[in-house]
Amino acid sequence: MKALQYVTVGQPPEVREVPTPEPGPGEVRLRITAAGACHSDSFVMSLSEDQYSAFGYPLPMTLGHEGVGVVDALGEGAKGIELGEAVAVYGPQGCGRCHACAQGVENYCPHAASRGIHPPGLGTDGAMAEYMIVSDPRLLIPLGDLDPVESVALTDAGLTPYHSIVGSLDLLVPGSTAVVIGVGGLGHMAIQLLRTLTSATVIALDISESKLDFAREVGAHHAFLSDDNAAQRIAEAVGPEPVTAVFDFVTNEPVLKIALSLSGPRTDLVLIGAGSVDTAVGLLGQPFGSRVRAPYWGSRPELMEVLELARTGQISVDTEHFTLDQAPEAYRKLHAGELRGRAVIVP
Ligand code: NAD
Ligand code: ZN
Repeated sequence: MKALQYVTVGQPPEVREVPTPEPGPGEVRLRITAAGACHSDSFVMSLSEDQYSAFGYPLPMTLGHEGVGVVDALGEGAKGIELGEAVAVYGPQGCGRCHACAQGVENYCPHAASRGIHPPGLGTDGAMAEYMIVSDPRLLIPLGDLDPVESVALTDAGLTPYHSIVGSLDLLVPGSTAVVIGVGGLGHMAIQLLRTLTSATVIALDISESKLDFAREVGAHHAFLSDDNAAQRIAEAVGPEPVTAVFDFVTNEPVLKIALSLSGPRTDLVLIGAGSVDTAVGLLGQPFGSRVRAPYWGSRPELMEVLELARTGQISVDTEHFTLDQAPEAYRKLHAGELRGRAVIVP
C-alpha cells in the first residue's frame, strides 16, 4: 500500500510503497477514508537529530494522527465492532485500565509513556496511508452519517480546542471575553466552539490580514494583528478590563507577552501551541486567581461530543484536499503558513 512516511530527520516526508499491515490479536484494520495534517507533525519534523531522539519515535513512521476510515479486517478476538462500519480514530490512547482511562480521559493516562503507548502518527504508524492498524475497538468512535473528509480534523483540530475551552467554561459567562491567538486548523475551530458553547465576546489575533478575515468569517466578533499594538486595539474594542481567557495556539515568547498584557485577576491562560515559555507563577508572580494550563488533546467522551456538534451543524471544518501523492505539498503549505483551515489527505 501507499503511505506518507517521515523517513529521515530534517528531510520532507516521502510517499512510499510499504506492506499492507495485518491486524494482530484484538486489533482492527481500517481502510482510511481521510487523514488530517496538523502543525504538530510539522513541529516534530522541524526538530534536530538530538531533539528528535528525545522523543524516541522510530523511523520510518507513517504520519497522521487525525484519521477516519472503514473497518476492513478484524484481528483474532477483536469484538464489539462490525466490518464496514465508518469510524473516527481516538488518538491519545492510554493503557485503557487505569482511573483516568476508566473516565475516558485517556489523554492524561499516567502509564501511556512508560508502557510505550503512542498516538498514531506520533510514535507509531498513523493514518496517512491506505490502511492502518488500531490497537483496540474502544478507540474507534462511530462516525455515522458524517462526511469523512469534512470531519476527520474534528479528531484533533476540533477535539483539542473543545477540551481547552471546556476547562474554562466556569468563567466564560455572559459579559466575558475570550482571545484566540492563531487562527489555523485549531484556532478556527476554537472560534466556532466559543461561539457555540459560550456567550463570550470572541477576539482573534493572527499575523496576516487574510487570517483575520477568516476569523471574522467563522464567528470572531473582532480580529486584530498579533503585534505590539494588539492589547491597545482590544482595549479600544471591548474596554480596558483584563480578558477572561486567552487560548494560545502558538505559544512563544512574543505571544506570551501579548497574553500577559491582556491578563488580570482570574484570567485563564491556556497554552495549547507546541512550545514552552518562561513566566513567573505564584502569588507575587501572576495576577491573583489566574490559572495557567497546558491542555493536551481531549478525552474519548469529548470526541463524541465534538462529532455531535458537527452532526447538528453547529461547527464545521474549513478543509483543503490533497491525494496521498500530494501529501508532501500539504505539509509544505502548512509549514509555510499558506493553508486556510485544515489540509486533508484523501487516499
Ligand atoms: P496551523 O499552522 O494550522 O495554525 C497556526 C496559526 O497561527 C496560523 O494561522 C498562523 O498564521 C498563526 N500564527 C503564527 N504565529 C503567530 C503569532 N505570532 N501570533 C498570532 N498568530 C500566529 O497550526 P495548528 O495545526 O492549528 O496547530 C496550532 C498549534 O497547536 C501548534 O503549535 C500545534 O503543534 C499545537 N497543537 C497542540 C495540541 C495539544 O494537544 N496541545 C494539539 C494539536 C496541535
Ligand atoms: Zn495534532
